[in-house]
Amino acid sequence: MKSTLLSEVYNPEIFREQGHALIDLLAGHLEESLRQNKKVINWNLPEDEKDFWEGFLASGSETDFFKEVLVHTTHVHNPRYIGHQVCAPAPIAALSGLVSAMLNNGMAVYEMGMAPTAIERIITDLIAAKIGFDKTARGILTSGGTLANLTAILAARKAKVMKDVWKEGSSDRLAIMVSEEAHYCVDRAARIMGLGSDGIIKVPVTDGFVMDSSKLEAYYQQATEKGLNVFALVGSAPSTATGIYDDLEDLAAFCKRHGLWLHVDGAHGGAAVFSDKYKKTVKGIELADSVVIDGHKMMLMSTITTALIFRDGSHSHTIFSQEADYLLQQSDKEDWFNLAKRTFECTKTMMSLQWFLLFKTYGEKVFDENVTTLYDLGQSFGKMIVADPDLELATTPGSNIVCFRFVHPGLSLEETNDLNRRIRQELLEEGKFYIVQTRIRGKQYLRCTIMNPFTTIQHLDELLSLVRIKARQILNA
Ligand SMILES: *Cc1c(COP(=O)(O)O)cnc(C)c1O
Repeated sequence: MKSTLLSEVYNPEIFREQGHALIDLLAGHLEESLRQNKKVINWNLPEDEKDFWEGFLASGSETDFFKEVLVHTTHVHNPRYIGHQVCAPAPIAALSGLVSAMLNNGMAVYEMGMAPTAIERIITDLIAAKIGFDKTARGILTSGGTLANLTAILAARKAKVMKDVWKEGSSDRLAIMVSEEAHYCVDRAARIMGLGSDGIIKVPVTDGFVMDSSKLEAYYQQATEKGLNVFALVGSAPSTATGIYDDLEDLAAFCKRHGLWLHVDGAHGGAAVFSDKYKKTVKGIELADSVVIDGHKMMLMSTITTALIFRDGSHSHTIFSQEADYLLQQSDKEDWFNLAKRTFECTKTMMSLQWFLLFKTYGEKVFDENVTTLYDLGQSFGKMIVADPDLELATTPGSNIVCFRFVHPGLSLEETNDLNRRIRQELLEEGKFYIVQTRIRGKQYLRCTIMNPFTTIQHLDELLSLVRIKARQILNA
């Protein structure tokens, strides 16, 4: 090879050296994050952050690059990270990401990823069994809950709508039903599929934020009278903002009555199937036609990997194909190993490696421990908030997602909202804790998702003290 530059790019010795240095850096980061009282985030305004990296591109040293990335990102391994729903990945999960990134098998056809393809089949079979599906179930791994939900609703349309919309297109008025509290990606999926605003029937929730199953019948009848062809119902397990689970048994009974597809969006909490204590939250999940579970939320994995499992596996072969229906009939061997026929992606990462490695190294009890620990903390945190007259819960926590706000006598709704917005902004800028916020029924809440199993009651207590201090400072200013 003539190019010395490219020879340098691929030099194994340089890789070895850089790799060892990087692992040392990340191990140190893990140690610091878990054990020392470090900031979770060094907050910067977007323009300042951009200036920094422009300066770095011009005159920084590339040997400092990863170090600087650490300084300028949010540390999910810090027990005071109690914000969004991504987990603190198990280090071996991150290592399998490196292997995937280096080997770069594209996964679309079997021979471009033999091991990860076979492993993906084993893993999805295992999750299917855990959900309670029988041997006819099949699944895929895909890049996130958003894409998995879209894929599931496409499968539902294929299975339940008489006309082959994939082939012929459609001007029919198709619709799905979903809780008004569902993740926005379900709405987005429906719009991508051409269902329009009328095609997303949002069912109200109860005071406790569960989809109100007593209203399903009326909403369904109303839609049918308007000429809509409802083909699926999506349940949340749980919904993202509040962390409250829909009653899947109720939803399944309704779907059975009307011949609808039941899809369970368990992106966050479908992993409760692994928890002896909390599997009650997903009671009825085995009655679903399809289920989504994110690996990167409650299952200790790196972004981004999601299992989409079909109770009747044949549906997973027909989503993106006009011909698969008869191809499958003609061949008696099921073509499970050519994954791109069944996934939205053409090329995807070798994402099954981290699922397999976690199962193999620690067994499924690691998922039980993780879910159970985090949900227990959610319950305890809820009780701590209830005991505090300055604080108000949005609702009793149904998982590890907890929403609360600071209240003060004499403040209007708008003033209370503003106060809580400012508390959260001050927490962000201080960086000692990282939590997020959400608006529910017009009220501004501080939103915590306890994702790190090393978060303790003491950390949560410390957070509540800090919230009170910030609130008093703002009120007295
Ligand atoms: C997080 C979440 C999603 C989106 O999943 P991604 O993996 O972020 O694409 C969908 N539904 C629910 C209920 C979620 O909590």
